[in-house]
Amino acid sequence: MAKDPVCDMEVAEATTQHTTTHQGKTYYFCSADCKKAFDLEPDKYADKN
Ligand SMILES: [Zn+2]
Repeated sequence: MAKDPVCDMEVAEATTQHTTTHQGKTYYFCSADCKKAFDLEPDKYADKN
């Protein structure tokens, strides 16, 4: 399971339709709204590595 970085929900990578790639890393979301929030402010939600 992956974690939705916006709402911290567990997301199944295999089934979610809501994904985005930021700086070479793929992020998974529970909903289109969470993906949209991430896409608007990726640096706010992306892993700080
Ligand atoms: Zn979410």
